[in-house]
Amino acid sequence: MIAKPTPLLQVEKLRVEFHGSAGRTVRAVRDVDLEIFEGETLGLVGESGCGKSTLGRAMLRVTEPASGSITYLGLDITRLRGTVFRRTRADLQMVFQDPFGSLNPRRTIADIVAEPMLRARGLSRAAARAAVDDLLDQVGLGREAGSRRPHEFSGGQRQRIGIARALAPSPRFVVADEPVSALDVSIQAQVINLLTDLIRDRGLTMLFISHDLGVVKHIADRIAVMYLGEIIEIASRDDFFAGPAHPYGEALLSSVPSLGSARERIELAGELPDPASPPPGCTFHTRCRYAIDRCRVEAPVLREVAPGRQVRCHLPLLTIAAAPSAPAPVGPVTKGTTA
Ligand code: SF4
Repeated sequence: MIAKPTPLLQVEKLRVEFHGSAGRTVRAVRDVDLEIFEGETLGLVGESGCGKSTLGRAMLRVTEPASGSITYLGLDITRLRGTVFRRTRADLQMVFQDPFGSLNPRRTIADIVAEPMLRARGLSRAAARAAVDDLLDQVGLGREAGSRRPHEFSGGQRQRIGIARALAPSPRFVVADEPVSALDVSIQAQVINLLTDLIRDRGLTMLFISHDLGVVKHIADRIAVMYLGEIIEIASRDDFFAGPAHPYGEALLSSVPSLGSARERIELAGELPDPASPPPGCTFHTRCRYAIDRCRVEAPVLREVAPGRQVRCHLPLLTIAAAPSAPAPVGPVTKGTTA
């Protein structure tokens, strides 16, 4: 029997809550279990508002989780404090959608990139200067960029600065949160190609968050789909794009006909429900064209339906496709929000 590889990062029962006025609590991330293996890029997809950015931030404790554990190299980082936390956290970095907001306009690019190096790696100023030059070359800005300030750069160049800053402490794991969605399409491909090269050359492990399936197909090894704060499907990239096992993934993929195996465009009924009061049973039942009575009262669990493939659905589409008397869609297929 082949031993299961040990994940680099393992998330168990992770929960993030936001408390609003009048006692309103939004459970943005609901008991998520996720494993990320060394050297892989896991693409996290879903509509905006589904909790994927919150999950990515919670995994690095940029947002504090309410409960659950995040195990990195045998340490539960939710329990770490002080110096041990800061040292461990240097291994885990984030690339933001818009780095400009966090780039100090008065500092040079060299200072911005050197700061996390000095803090995390204990380099001398001279060694840090040489390492900054190398890093600016690697991200395609060139070492001359070091003496300039953030406002002198375009959006794509600023994202390269954000990537250089994230890589400065030599992390093993990076969360990239919609890193190209604010960029022109022509620039997106350049930044994706840069990230692909850096992942390969540095052996990085990455959580790549995006609502754009085309981008994710390009960069991810595996796909995790989120809906209303829960992971509802995990599959290899090839399996997912050959045909999602969850009806929500099927609808998402059908909205981009150039990408997948979709035979028809599936219009999702209605809007994303209010995350403060998710529907009972399967949270997707209000929009699912396959929903049956059981779906309205019994919440499905995330379970393995094929090797390496997990789905949270009573009627995963693999089963539907294989069954001799496959049930026809029974839910309303009304015009509404497109995935
Ligand atoms: Fe649809 Fe039911 Fe599966 Fe939920 S459990 S996705 S409602 S078929």
